[in-house]
Amino acid sequence: MPASPADLAVLGAGPAGLAAAAAASRAGANVVVIDGNSRVGGQYWRHRDGDTGRGHHHWSVLTGLRAAVPEFLGGHQVWHVERIGDGFAVHTSGGEVRCRALIVATGAYDRQLPFPGWTLPGVFTAGGAQALLKGHGVTAGRRIVVAGTGPFLLPVAAGLADAGAHVVGVFEAGSPRGFVRHPGALLANPGKLGEGAGYLRTLMRHRIPYRTRTTVAAAHGTESVSSATVATLDADWRVLRRREVECDAIAVGYGFTPQLEIPLQLGCATRLDADGSLVARADDQQRATVPGVYLAGEVCGVGGAPLSLVEGELAGLHAAWTTIGAAPDNARVGRLLRRRRANRAFAAALHDAHPVRPGWLTWLDGQTQLCRCEEVTVDRVRESIVDLGATDTRAVKLLARPGMGLCQGRVCGYATSCFVADACGRQPTEQDLLGVAARPIAQPVTLGELARD
Ligand SMILES: Cc1cc2nc3c(=O)[nH]c(=O)nc-3n(C[C@H](O)[C@H](O)[C@H](O)COP(=O)(O)OP(=O)(O)OC[C@H]3O[C@@H](n4cnc5c(N)ncnc54)[C@H](O)[C@@H]3O)c2cc1C
Repeated sequence: MPASPADLAVLGAGPAGLAAAAAASRAGANVVVIDGNSRVGGQYWRHRDGDTGRGHHHWSVLTGLRAAVPEFLGGHQVWHVERIGDGFAVHTSGGEVRCRALIVATGAYDRQLPFPGWTLPGVFTAGGAQALLKGHGVTAGRRIVVAGTGPFLLPVAAGLADAGAHVVGVFEAGSPRGFVRHPGALLANPGKLGEGAGYLRTLMRHRIPYRTRTTVAAAHGTESVSSATVATLDADWRVLRRREVECDAIAVGYGFTPQLEIPLQLGCATRLDADGSLVARADDQQRATVPGVYLAGEVCGVGGAPLSLVEGELAGLHAAWTTIGAAPDNARVGRLLRRRRANRAFAAALHDAHPVRPGWLTWLDGQTQLCRCEEVTVDRVRESIVDLGATDTRAVKLLARPGMGLCQGRVCGYATSCFVADACGRQPTEQDLLGVAARPIAQPVTLGELARD
């Protein structure tokens, strides 16, 4: 733990945080990187001890960045950040860290949509199934169905198949043909296209069917999942046909939700992104709307590891400029801004090709749990709207308790907001999502840690 305040504390050691820390450190700033995980790399480079990088993309980028980061506090969950004088106090599970400026690069987590049976053991988020594999070498099951929307389903299925699981199929609710509306964005990012083609080759090698306009609309089983209803969908995701497939695990993902607790604790302004996520606002220097706070990576919009790297470097260069006066090289900044534009165009194309369509609400029955922590069913949420007159997510939360449990709305917040908005005949708003995203304590914390700080 540094004795005097660091120039910069970087929260998150994924691609964005590492790139930020490396850039600021090379510019001469005194930087500390903090992450709840004991290893650097974030979601993209999640790995095990002794991992040599086999099977990881751009591993040498990770090792280069790691070498440029002098101080890493792994296993430190940040649960609150507050402004103290000219700087900040970062409260972590390992104690308090003081800094003059802050770069928040806390990434994102799986966005989930509920469906009947989704709380059965054996139903995983796609990211959860991948984290088990990358972090622990464990496959989520032996006979696995992968479903949801977005290109992330591909590395999940490919990884599971390569590790020996039988992947029954990849069921993509959307239609990736939407990408053809954005030829410029695709051509400017040949690396991502190549990566996608590599995953498809792996699926073909393992004879894994890839079906579009299809998803898992229900899971069945007693003790744990034993089968899934695979539904063919119309363009709005209403079910056209159903069939049942046997499986012992389901991995489902509908994109990602940016992890905004820290920016919201600090009062940073937000906006709705093209994929319907709440994201924190950042300018061309990656500055948040709060002085001294910089943002990088998926907290400012889900867009993939290359975009996170670019935003991280921009944030690190500008934060070093503000804190120690090391002016960045203009030509370098210009190149980074051009790459940011190209990567953001790619992300927008991706969101346009893989939107979450409202028909998913028709998969639910009255007993489907919207909030699994507090076991709040669809019927109870509907009652709070129809009988008790709630018209927004926050009121529904107070009346029916979705989002009041252990996860504090991380899992159910997006789906509950969509459900409430639909029941009230409108689209989910920034306010709806804010009502389930603000958490004064970002991570579970023990009473001992609270007392110590
Ligand atoms: C589950 C998951 C799996 C993914 N897998 C892939 C993949 O296989 N291929 C691919 O191309 N893209 C993948 N992505 C997308 C990709 O990870 C991102 O585009 C990229 O990693 C984003 O980089 P980042 O630095 O913004 O965030 P991350 O890589 O998410 O890094 C954020 C870091 O912040 C830390 N953190 C968050 N909150 C706190 C806190 N309160 N206290 C302390 N530390 C905190 C996290 O532990 C994490 O290490 C995945 C995303 C997710 C959510």
